[in-house]
Amino acid sequence: MIVILLGSPGSGKGTQSKRLAEKFGFQHLATGDIFRAEIAAQSAVGQKAQDYLKAGKLVPDSIVIEMVAGRLESGGKYLLDGFPRTLEQAQGLDEMLKRMKSSVDLVVYLTLQKEEAIKRMASRRTCTGCGEVYNVISRPTAVEGVCDKCSAKVVQRDDDSEATAAKRLMVFEDLTHPLVAYYKAEAAFHEVDAAQTPDKVEAALSAVIESTKAAR
Ligand code: AMP
Repeated sequence: MIVILLGSPGSGKGTQSKRLAEKFGFQHLATGDIFRAEIAAQSAVGQKAQDYLKAGKLVPDSIVIEMVAGRLESGGKYLLDGFPRTLEQAQGLDEMLKRMKSSVDLVVYLTLQKEEAIKRMASRRTCTGCGEVYNVISRPTAVEGVCDKCSAKVVQRDDDSEATAAKRLMVFEDLTHPLVAYYKAEAAFHEVDAAQTPDKVEAALSAVIESTKAAR
């Protein structure tokens, strides 16, 4: 089963994907997390990607598609978070899945007002060790700047600064939002209001996944 979570930066894709992956046994494939790990390791892909992430721009499609193709296995159960982000990536994914005699089963779009997304990114903090996501207002760490889970340093991501966050939202509107129309025509498509509490968003997403599983 292949599920795609679509949504602007700050809409809670990462948080929800982690919860759902654990609950339903999906492999969580988050291209942003993969790029951050590759950059930390200073691998060849990391070196190619780092300037794009820093500037809030998208990494070129060919690099992203190749990276995902190397990670998808036939028959796998995946929750895709942050991929695809352009029409070219969506078509690339369709081709990869076709070769595996598979297809996208469900796309859920997490909707959120731009102002709220900017507010969330400004207060978001991320662990440099395990990637756990915190929020200085709604979910602070017990000790300031220290991860509750792994004790590594918790910081604001470079690209969550206000100027870069605004740029990322523009990139989302220009390049990723068109995927809503693409998937409405191509796959089972649902929208969930991401302004609700995380527990309510999780309940809504779980209901959609359950009904898709039942219909397969
Ligand atoms: P995220 O953690 O999903 O917000 O992604 C952080 C950054 O990683 C993005 O702003 C892009 O620079 C890069 N990135 C992640 N996924 C993709 C993708 N599918 N296509 C292009 N760039 C990506």
